[in-house]
Amino acid sequence: MRRVYLDNNATTPIAPEVLEAMLPFYRDNFGNPSSIHAFGREVKVAIDEAREQVAALLGAAAEEIVFTSSGTEADNLAIKGTAHALRGKGQHIITCKIEHPAVLNTCKHLEKEGFKVTCLPVDEYGMIRLEELAGAITDETILITIMHGNNEIGTIQPIEEISRIARERCIRFHTDAVQSLGKVPIIVQELGIDLLSLSAHKLHGPKGIGALYVKKGLKLQPILHGGHQERGQRAGTENVAGIVALGRACQLAAQHMADEAKNLSGLRDGLFEGLQERIPRVKLNGHPTKRLPTTLNCSFYGIEGESLLMNLDLAGVAVSTGSACSSGSIEPSHVLVALGLPPQLYQGSLRFSFSRYNTQDDIDYILDILPPIVERLRKMSPFWKE
Ligand SMILES: *Cc1c(COP(=O)(O)O)cnc(C)c1O
Repeated sequence: MRRVYLDNNATTPIAPEVLEAMLPFYRDNFGNPSSIHAFGREVKVAIDEAREQVAALLGAAAEEIVFTSSGTEADNLAIKGTAHALRGKGQHIITCKIEHPAVLNTCKHLEKEGFKVTCLPVDEYGMIRLEELAGAITDETILITIMHGNNEIGTIQPIEEISRIARERCIRFHTDAVQSLGKVPIIVQELGIDLLSLSAHKLHGPKGIGALYVKKGLKLQPILHGGHQERGQRAGTENVAGIVALGRACQLAAQHMADEAKNLSGLRDGLFEGLQERIPRVKLNGHPTKRLPTTLNCSFYGIEGESLLMNLDLAGVAVSTGSACSSGSIEPSHVLVALGLPPQLYQGSLRFSFSRYNTQDDIDYILDILPPIVERLRKMSPFWKE
């Protein structure tokens, strides 16, 4: 059976070049980078090189990169680290409703510590409204955290405008760019970003390694206390192989990004157009143009995403759905709900997410098998009307 992986926003396959780069650090180069002898020094050199590679993709300086265990930890470090460092200045944080749980639940946790959190709504495309952001700022606001590209619908926020508003009011600006990095150009200085989270496994690297860009001069309260690794910002012996892999993944992304973005947005749009031609009542979720080249989220009116997903899985195709079935009831995605979609649409949503390794053949296969699945499920659905 043909197997097609279109769930790259959940995780991407590791690139062969990345795996190749990391393997020596599980074999011969096992030194501790803090050791002064040759075993340690060799490994330290590799980490320094990886730091340069990550920084280069962001237009940052190497010393502005802090390696973490994941995108989740990078989000935690940015948000808790700022909140705890600036508590004396104010206790108000602004975020938005469609953030990843790593941001939303960190903010929720801080509310228990006494911080106030404003969670901005989004419009039907998933965009925040700049006037609402400006209106939410108070003298107490210390941090604005708004994601770059959304993981479920791909909508890209107006990052430059958000950072301008933050800068004018002397407020720190963090962005979760886990889905965007390596897919669209992100130069931190041009965009005015103070803190940026990234994760290797969303760009053809391994799981369990991420990083936080921290603009020079910004103070963060660390989450982990221990040794002096990462300039005292993140204690713990480094995940050397992971760091080397992340560096290589960033280098590959820099090389391929422009071509890939063009290729993937072509596949993405071709799939959606093909689905629209073959299937009635399909609706695009997310912004029609300001969207990651990797992400297509659409709703098939009148049926459940879960059933679509399972039928596709039987045919060898991996996608994901906006609604997750937990203990018998269907939990809608907080992102699709925030767009204001009615249940008939958010229940029938599928996310197709692309990467470097997808081809036109993958799209053709889906266009062959999906229309009859939708037709069959709709015939059985009590909610379906032409
Ligand atoms: C995957 C993801 C994360 C979490 O990264 P991990 O490395 O899996 O912890 C955070 N934010 C977004 C937008 C993501 O897509």
